[in-house]
Amino acid sequence: QLADSLFIVNNFARDYFVQTLHETEEGQNVGLSYFEERGFTEETVRKFQLGYCLNLRDAFVREAQHKGYNMELLQKTGLVTIRNDQPADNYRGRVIFPIHNQSGKVLGFGARILVKSDRAPKYINSPENDIYVKSKVLYGTYFARHAIDKLDECLLVEGYTDVVSLHQAGIENVVASSGTSLTTDQLRLIKKYTRNLTILYDGDNAGVKAALRGLDMAIEEGLNVKLALIPDNEDPDSYVQKIGVEGFRQFIADNKQDFILFKLQVSLREAGNDTAKKSQLVNEIAETIARIDKVEDFTKQQDYIRQCSQLLKIDEEGMVSLVNKYIR
Ligand code: ATP
Ligand code: MN
Ligand code: MN
Ligand code: MN
Repeated sequence: QLADSLFIVNNFARDYFVQTLHETEEGQNVGLSYFEERGFTEETVRKFQLGYCLNLRDAFVREAQHKGYNMELLQKTGLVTIRNDQPADNYRGRVIFPIHNQSGKVLGFGARILVKSDRAPKYINSPENDIYVKSKVLYGTYFARHAIDKLDECLLVEGYTDVVSLHQAGIENVVASSGTSLTTDQLRLIKKYTRNLTILYDGDNAGVKAALRGLDMAIEEGLNVKLALIPDNEDPDSYVQKIGVEGFRQFIADNKQDFILFKLQVSLREAGNDTAKKSQLVNEIAETIARIDKVEDFTKQQDYIRQCSQLLKIDEEGMVSLVNKYIR
């Protein structure tokens, strides 16, 4: 079975990169120092099985071949590429974030460059294969699932390091979309543990747009979505390290807002005095509200109708009939 073989290769690679990080001179001087500078403790590095790939052409692939791992499989995992007819390590000189499934098996890797460069991407992620399907994975699920279950809330961040940092600070109910917009499969994964989703994205435009794109899908899946925007030029990792965990928790508590009302406020601001835009907006909001399951969440739908008509300064009865028009 191809999937099983890929897991076995990834498992070997994970162990190899962890060992390289802790037990080689380059691993310690370059990789471990990097994590240390970022404020990650030894315990955190161990827990997330973070690793390092030596800055050599083919140190990993030679060891893998020596151990008998199949070249074709090594390429399928994205760990190895053929360059000038010779196998070469894809992640050389990078720190490694293994990406686990819900039961802790390694699906793939994110590999971060240590020094910013115009020539190479900051992160290289595993290519899609039989086990790594980007749209179905949320980074950190394995470490977060119990906390999500217990707290009945899932925090969603953008990046690997946001998950790692928040965990270290004691906030464990957190997963990352890894820089892509949310998919239905990812929302369903969250729904296995909770219906309450809180998005913690950057306040920059890209962050907000990515969050808004996920909204209708999330409503459709019956999730209660809240949002707290992280201040400019920060992300949850940098921000929790800057203001401390109590400050961070307080910030979220103070800034957490309902996602539908947030979307409405953003759009209202954009529409300004443009009546055509505003009427289009009224329709969009009605369509969103119509996605709330009327049977399961009747009062929730009514609440939204009331609050949104107030914000839009339109008649509540009119909103009710508009929403009904969109219910399928
Ligand atoms: P760091 O703090 O190490 O710079 P980050 O997580 O804050 O990392 P962002 O630039 O905020 O990085 O990006 C968020 C996420 O998007 C990353 O964690 C990674 O999963 C993904 N990502 C970022 N840059 C790339 C890239 N060049 N290629 C693929 N994925 C990327
Ligand atoms: Mn951003
Ligand atoms: Mn960051
Ligand atoms: Mn970031």
